[in-house]
Amino acid sequence: MTKRTGILLLVSGPSGSGKTTLCRRLADEGEAHYSISCTTRKPREGEIDGRDYHFLTKEDFQRRIANDEMLEHAEVHGNHYGTLKSEVLEYLSEGTDVVMDIDVQGAAQVRDCADAEIKTALIDLFVMPPSKEELRARLTGRGTDDAEVITLRMNNSLMEMEHWPEYTYRLISATREEDYLNFKSLVLAGRMRISRLK
Ligand code: 5GP
Repeated sequence: MTKRTGILLLVSGPSGSGKTTLCRRLADEGEAHYSISCTTRKPREGEIDGRDYHFLTKEDFQRRIANDEMLEHAEVHGNHYGTLKSEVLEYLSEGTDVVMDIDVQGAAQVRDCADAEIKTALIDLFVMPPSKEELRARLTGRGTDDAEVITLRMNNSLMEMEHWPEYTYRLISATREEDYLNFKSLVLAGRMRISRLK
């Protein structure tokens, strides 16, 4: 059988777009490795170090940048986020697909990366809600946040959404099942790409 190198699937989109659910499901079904990001933000209730994120101090985060361990990093909402090379490179060369939940700044850095292996591997997708009304409904439906927090998130999301034309693929979110079917189709098509065959 012909062997191939892995796909690096970058998934961005505003909170409320459903991108994290898509990425996690792909990994849970054994279709890809979920790249666990580093962050300096505090864990939310229920989040586990090493499963949801590598929760680092600011000093540790800076040290990893200085040691050239990060593929990309960015500041999002006042906290630092970054991807370790060790979460990505070996997986790709052994033919395992990698999925990353990443903000628009980080995605731009990976897209601009000169590494030929990354360039071959890359598929970038922007997930967005179908309308402003639906976005508001999803952000409101999340839980206990007050109106001010929802307005802030809404404004952040609308700003983030302006970046969709920078991506190769866009998914306008419908139902969870439809979204996953479309998402999976993108992965399946990516696996047939001849330039990734060894
Ligand atoms: P949250 O704190 O809600 O988990 O994530 C906040 C934002 O950080 C989301 O837009 C998410 O996509 C982004 N993010 C998560 N991991 C990374 C990463 O490794 N690098 C970058 N650049 N952004 C990330």
